[in-house]
Amino acid sequence: MSEVIERPMPVPDAATGPYWAAAHEGHLVMPRCNDCGKYHFYPHPLCPYCSSAKLEWTPVSGRGTLYSFTVVHRAPSPAFAAEVPYVVAVVELEEGPRLMSNLTGCAPAQAKIGMPLKAAFRKLSESVTLPVFEPQ
Ligand SMILES: [Zn+2]
Repeated sequence: MSEVIERPMPVPDAATGPYWAAAHEGHLVMPRCNDCGKYHFYPHPLCPYCSSAKLEWTPVSGRGTLYSFTVVHRAPSPAFAAEVPYVVAVVELEEGPRLMSNLTGCAPAQAKIGMPLKAAFRKLSESVTLPVFEPQ
């Protein structure tokens, strides 16, 4: 019998809880500044553009483009061995923020900078769902 290696899981906290809660319900939210109107990501305590503290988690379209990526061929831990090769992607949302994610629904060789993507949601456990991106 082989040992089960558990995948490292996100640990939602006060700063990221709304992001993970929304993802678990199947939608993507980003912090948006109620003073200058800009979105940002990762979460900051103050707006990185105007320093306002009036931030609000706001639904975004989930549409974006592939800004950058790499293909992982050698699993960083045994927990990912069954997934290689896979794409680690930086996705630029149409609202502006960029986030790191995975590309799914597309062979790694088909990944192309600038390709249109949309958010999808991969349930990892009963409490954690990972936002991933697939071709539009
Ligand atoms: Zn602002």
